[in-house]
Amino acid sequence: MLHVTKSFLPDIKEYISLLEEIWTNGQLTNDGPLVIELERKLAEYLEVEHFLYVSNGTIALQLAINALELAGDVITTPFSYCATTTSLIWEKCNPIFADISPISLTSERVQIERVLTTDSKGILTTHVYGNCADLLDQEQLAADYQIPIIYDGAHAFGVRHQGKSIFNYGTISTCSFHATKIFHTIEGGALITRDSNLAEKLRGIRSFGHKGDDYFAAGINGKNSEFHAAMGLINLKHFPQIKAHRQLASELYELRLPAEIQRIAWNSENDRNYSYFPVIFSSEETLLKVLRALNAVQIFPRRYFYPALNELPYLTYQACPVAEDIAKRIVCLPLSAEISTVDIERICSIISSTL
Ligand SMILES: *Cc1c(COP(=O)(O)O)cnc(C)c1O
Repeated sequence: MLHVTKSFLPDIKEYISLLEEIWTNGQLTNDGPLVIELERKLAEYLEVEHFLYVSNGTIALQLAINALELAGDVITTPFSYCATTTSLIWEKCNPIFADISPISLTSERVQIERVLTTDSKGILTTHVYGNCADLLDQEQLAADYQIPIIYDGAHAFGVRHQGKSIFNYGTISTCSFHATKIFHTIEGGALITRDSNLAEKLRGIRSFGHKGDDYFAAGINGKNSEFHAAMGLINLKHFPQIKAHRQLASELYELRLPAEIQRIAWNSENDRNYSYFPVIFSSEETLLKVLRALNAVQIFPRRYFYPALNELPYLTYQACPVAEDIAKRIVCLPLSAEISTVDIERICSIISSTL
C-alpha cells in the first residue's frame, strides 16, 4: 500500500537515547531542556529571530489570531487545509475569502484588494505546498492599510524566498510539525515573528497567560513536551537527507509524467522544500478516472485540497470560482523520504495509460 505520504521515523536507538536523557532529568514538559534546545536549533536553522514551539499548527494559528486581537472580518484563502478557516471561526472571526491566483494557487495582492474593506481587520493566507506569491507586494499592502498579515506556513518548513526564510515575512508566520509534514515532531507547530513584543505576548498566552507566578492575560495551553521535542531534534539532523530524497523523487515525477498534466508554477524566487507533488488534471472526471486506476492497485494519492474552503458546509457560501475549479482537479501524488524509483515509475505509467 502506498499512501500520499509516510512519516519519517529515525532509528529507534536514537530516540531511546534521548528518552534516557528525559528519564535522567525527570522533566517531561513546561519548557524542558529538549524543548529549549529544539527552539534554539530551529531558530538557528531557519535564520529567524523569535521562534516559539507549540503543541500543533492549529493552536499556532489560534494563538496568532488571538495575540493580534483580531475580531470581525479577516481576509483568508479558500485554498488551504480546513484548519486555516476553522481557526478563524474558533477565534470568533469572520472569514472573508479572497480567491486565489490560478498560477500560484495563493491569494495575491490583487485578489486580497478585491475583498478588502474598512471592516477588514487582518489577513490570514497560506503558502500552499510551500509555494508563495507576491510577498513584497503583500507587505506593502499591509503597510498601506495598517493591517496585520498571518501566514499559515504549515507547508513551508525550510523554504527561502529571495534568500531569506519565508517565515520572516508577514506579522506572524506559523508552521505545523504534524507527523504528515516534511519535518515533524509527531504533533507540533511553531510561531515565528520579528516583533519582540509580540513574541513576548505569544510566549505568555502559550502558557495560560502566566508571567512567572503572575497572571497577565487569559491564555491557553499551547506548550509542547520533551517527548515531541526529542523527535524534532533527531529529525532535524536527518532533514537534509529527507529533503534530498524528496527532491530526487519530485524530479523523477517531473520527468516521467505526461506533459499534458499541469504542474504547479513554483515561484522561481523560492528555494523549494519538496513537501508535496501536486498535479492538476484537465477535468474532475479525468482525476477520478486516474484515482480509480491507482486505488485499484493500492496506491492512494490525496485530493488535497478538496473542497475549496469557501464551500465548507458550515459557512455561508462566498463564490471563489478559481479555487473551486482547482480544488476539483488537483491531487497530491505519493511523496515521502522513502518512496522508491520503482514506485514512481509505476505511478507515472498508470497515469499515462489512464489519460
Ligand atoms: C497541517 C496543516 C495545518 C494544521 O496543522 P496541525 O499541526 O495538524 O494542527 C494548518 N494549515 C495547513 C495548511 C496544514 O497543512
